[in-house]
Order: sequence, then structure tokens, then C-alpha cells
Amino acid sequence: MNGAAPSTFEALERKLGRATSRAISDFSMIEDGDRILVAVSGGKDSYTMLHLLRALQRKAPVRFDLRVVNVDQGHPGYPAHVLREYMSREGHDFTMIEEDTYSIVTEKIPRGKTYCSLCSRLRRGILYRVAKDLGCSKIALGHHREDVLQTLFLNLLFAGQLAAMPPKLVTDDGSLVVVRPLVYCAEADIRAFAELAAFPILPCDLCGSQDHLQRKVVGRMLDDIERDRPGSKSVMLAALQNVHPSHLLDRRLWGALGLRAAQDAEEGGSLRDEGIPEQQLVRG
Ligand code: SF4
Repeated sequence: MNGAAPSTFEALERKLGRATSRAISDFSMIEDGDRILVAVSGGKDSYTMLHLLRALQRKAPVRFDLRVVNVDQGHPGYPAHVLREYMSREGHDFTMIEEDTYSIVTEKIPRGKTYCSLCSRLRRGILYRVAKDLGCSKIALGHHREDVLQTLFLNLLFAGQLAAMPPKLVTDDGSLVVVRPLVYCAEADIRAFAELAAFPILPCDLCGSQDHLQRKVVGRMLDDIERDRPGSKSVMLAALQNVHPSHLLDRRLWGALGLRAAQDAEEGGSLRDEGIPEQQLVRG
């Protein structure tokens, strides 16, 4: 699934709709009777997610409700009316929550440092609370393929972890499930679709934060790889669906797989000496 070959609204809608349906089905993101809080920021991703979920709602064999929520975090000049007008025009069940986290963030984070970590944590907390108030059991977030891959490389390069972004996640207290229906969707397709759909995009630089600098660096790195080797991002996404835990070096995974460390197997000769393929590991 590379980005942005089909150029018409309908073709892109079909392509993105197929990718979204596949992710929802692969990870059982939506079940009969669900009431889902759809978090919208006013950016291309969440508008697209909302559009696709509503289209799916019309034809899916299961019944589910969508409650659309935006958090106005008090950023100077936030054009809340743009979202309100769009949601009313489209007939969405829409709630705007006004909570001034901007003041908290600017007070706590020294000038020149990035606000994003605290800002998004506060926003997430608000969304969890509002989801419960609205009787929702799930929250849908608009992260896409590039977000997943960037997170993978951020963790790899800066955190010493091999982890991407969960497509579905139960919150710590077990009361909510967070789903990311766009995980298979290419950002270029979403961008092209959002332009054709003429969503009224809200500016994302009102907070004055140096938005996710490391993420941007990694994003550019991935774009360079894709430019040199078209299709690489699709291959990377496929790799995330084709993990060989026994070929990683995490001993906890070995324990979970019921594998023993190699020393027992190698007593009296190496696996290679015996002509045993390396993949054939020893069950404990
Ligand atoms: S870019 Fe601004 S609004 Fe977005 S998470 Fe960072 S600080 Fe918050």
C-alpha cells in the first residue's frame, strides 16, 4: 500500500476505506453496540477518520454510535467556530470541551522547550474523562501508517525499545479501549483525500511549541528512504505484521514463547554443525 496513486475523491475514499476496514477487522476494533468517541483535532487525519467511520457506519453489519469530541485547549486564536460550523453542517453529534491546558503547559514548561508531551498527556486525560461522561467504551484516534513507523524508529533510535504504536489498547484502569483505525493508511493518501474533501483544516501552530522535533527528523529520514526505494514504507509496515520474536534478543520474549536459551541445545556442538536450521529453536 503505497501513497497517493488514485487521484479522484471516490478512488481515494475506496482505498482508504478498504485499509480502514481491514485494520478494524484485523484487530476487532469495533463491535456491535459500541459507542465510540471520535477525537478530532481539526487536522487532516481526524477529519478523514471521521469521514471513513461514518461511511462504514452506514454499511457495516454491526451497529455502532459515533460521538465526535474536540478539546479547545485555550491556544490563543483557536478558531473553534470553524469546527463547530463544520460539525453542525455535516450533522455530527459533536461536543467541544473547553479546558485551558495551554496556561498549565506554558507555566510548567520553560520557554524554548517543547510543550507537546505535557500538552498531549493533558488532552488524553480530558478525552478519557469525557468518553466516560458520554457513555463511550472506545476512543478512536487518527494515527496513520507514518505515525506508526515514526514511533517505531523513535523508540529504536532514542529509547532503546523495539515498539511501534498499538492499533488497539486497553487503558490502565481497564475502562476504555483506544483504537487507531487508520494504522494501515498512508499519510499521502490522507493528505490528498483531505484536500479533495476540502475539510476546513485548523492551523496547528497556535501553541508556539517546537512541535515534535525528533519525530520530524525521523519522518524526513523515512521519506528519504521511500524516495530512494519506493514502497519501503509498505515493506516496513508489513514487517510489523510479520515479527519473529525468537530472532530478537529479548529474553522475556523467549520465556513467553516457552523457549530456552541456546546453551542447552548447543552442548556437544553448534546448531549449524548439526545442520539444523537456526530458525528451529528449542522449546523448554
Ligand atoms: S503541537 Fe501544540 S497543540 Fe500539538 S501537542 Fe504539541 S503543544 Fe500541544
